[in-house]
Amino acid sequence: MSAQQTDCIFCKIIQHQIPATIIFDDSHAIAFLDVNPLASGHILVVPKDHVEQLIDLPDIIAASIGSVLPKLGRALVQVTGASGFNVLQNNGEVAGQVVPHVHFHLIPRSTDDSLGYRWNAGTYNDDQMDQLCVAYQQALL
Ligand code: 5GP
Ligand code: ZN
Repeated sequence: MSAQQTDCIFCKIIQHQIPATIIFDDSHAIAFLDVNPLASGHILVVPKDHVEQLIDLPDIIAASIGSVLPKLGRALVQVTGASGFNVLQNNGEVAGQVVPHVHFHLIPRSTDDSLGYRWNAGTYNDDQMDQLCVAYQQALL
């Protein structure tokens, strides 16, 4: 039994209260077509439990969703004929998350799709990487 939130659009889709083009459905996750696709065949993969962000997702659900991504990616490439695809997962408004229910975008890509993907990458000074590494390792204990 999964836990939903009444005012969440994705929970409503999961409960079949509003229509969606559902292409995959198992005990932990569903996948459906994004209604406003960045490219034709754009898929959203969504855990059935209402969880707002990736950091809130229990390991077992995360593992279950992770295990279906390759299969959905293969289907996306086969069906759309895409040369590749992006997996995009936004957390928080500042990162572009509009629907506060964890979801993974699978976005078909082709050579001249003009979607773009380049972000402005920075650099590190001196021992910043080593300091970050220590901080991350401690946070992960
Ligand atoms: P976010 O910006 O939160 O990462 O992405 C949310 C996505 O959900 C958007 O790409 C948007 O088009 C999609 N979306 C929002 N509402 C609906 C809906 O009612 N049905 C479907 N299929 N997709 C939706
Ligand atoms: Zn929800």
